[in-house]
Amino acid sequence: MLRRMFGMQVHARCRRGILTLIGLISIAALSAPDTSAQSPPPMQAVEGKHIVLKSDSGSRESLVELVEAFDAAVPQWERFWQLPPGTLARWQVDAFVMADPQRFRDSGDLPPDLNFPFGYAVDSNIWVIRQRSDYYTRHLLLHEGVHALAIELFGGTGPSWFAEGLAEMLSVHRGTGRQVEVNVVPESTQVVPYWGRFKLLSQRRDEQRIPTLDAVLQYPPDLKSDVESYGWSWVAAMLLTEYPDYRPAVLAEANNGSLRTVAFSIAFKRRLSRQWPIVQARWRMLTNTIDYGFDWPRERIDLAIGDKLWRGNPIETTIQADRGWQSVGVRFAPGMRVKISPRGRCSLDDDPKPWISEPPGVTIQYANDRPLGQLLVCVLPNKTDEQRQLQPLLVRSVESDTELVIDKHCWLLFRINDHLGDLGNNRGGYTVSIRR
Ligand SMILES: [Zn+2]
Repeated sequence: MLRRMFGMQVHARCRRGILTLIGLISIAALSAPDTSAQSPPPMQAVEGKHIVLKSDSGSRESLVELVEAFDAAVPQWERFWQLPPGTLARWQVDAFVMADPQRFRDSGDLPPDLNFPFGYAVDSNIWVIRQRSDYYTRHLLLHEGVHALAIELFGGTGPSWFAEGLAEMLSVHRGTGRQVEVNVVPESTQVVPYWGRFKLLSQRRDEQRIPTLDAVLQYPPDLKSDVESYGWSWVAAMLLTEYPDYRPAVLAEANNGSLRTVAFSIAFKRRLSRQWPIVQARWRMLTNTIDYGFDWPRERIDLAIGDKLWRGNPIETTIQADRGWQSVGVRFAPGMRVKISPRGRCSLDDDPKPWISEPPGVTIQYANDRPLGQLLVCVLPNKTDEQRQLQPLLVRSVESDTELVIDKHCWLLFRINDHLGDLGNNRGGYTVSIRR
């Protein structure tokens, strides 16, 4: 089962926290007296198109499901990397889903010196420790598969933020078996048990400890199983591929995957150097906003280097209820006094009847700790001067005529408050007038 095992370079490692391993050991210890009386369950093997899966645990149906999920993901990865259809037709990995790694060491399927709590990839071999939810086991199998594919296509995965960001992005999924769809943002915590990335990210947001994008790009080669670093790397990978302008840089730089040093990240940034202030501004908004239900097509923000400085001429614009943050299209300078006047009505739900809201919001319904339908304004700095951690963003409500004194070069962004995953049933919007 194990091909080209010895003398190989280890390209990717995914050790992420030790607690789960301890959990597994103690579960194994508890069940040990039972299994000593009888022989352990037999090893099972299931072969699919792109994977030969061997496991010491799980029902045969559950292993077939994992194989079908992997086979469903491969064509999606092929499209993501913009490979000609059929490029990966003959690509296959040897995968091991292990409840008891020692059995795999004994059988020669796992190198004796490899220890990790989640998963590991070496060339076309991938190992996954069985997790506490089927979702997370499947997620890790796909995650290690993305590493194995990068090694196959590019000779390596690139530095840690690039390797783990893309592996996370292309393994977050909905559905099971043949229905698996990768590269999604989960709708709720219930559909991704034990995955836990958003919990950590929103905790950091509450603590005002969001890293700058440059800090993420400078992560050390070994992330030491740190789930938070994996989470921010994932958010960075989405930012750099969900905006169509940035995606070619990711696809091109991936070819240098054998480089795992800062040279890779410097070369990557150079490809986007003209746009970098906009990339950073979008990172600031994205990291402040993203959570379960985040809906990319509604949340891309229109910003441009060429946005003109506001000359004081009255602006009247509509803020759509079914979209995320929306810029008024100009930049503002320190010292400007801006009067914002909101008016109008929008509808926030159709069921059972339309929920109509005005700029103060519907005060009996809340989302993100603010009334549903409340008009919000955000002061988004034009420049990112911070080195490691972002300063908190100024977000405030605009319930009626409001005066804002601008203290930095910035954009003004508006949105109508709602649950992130619930913008699709919104109609209309508010008119916002901006005057001196
Ligand atoms: Zn990984």
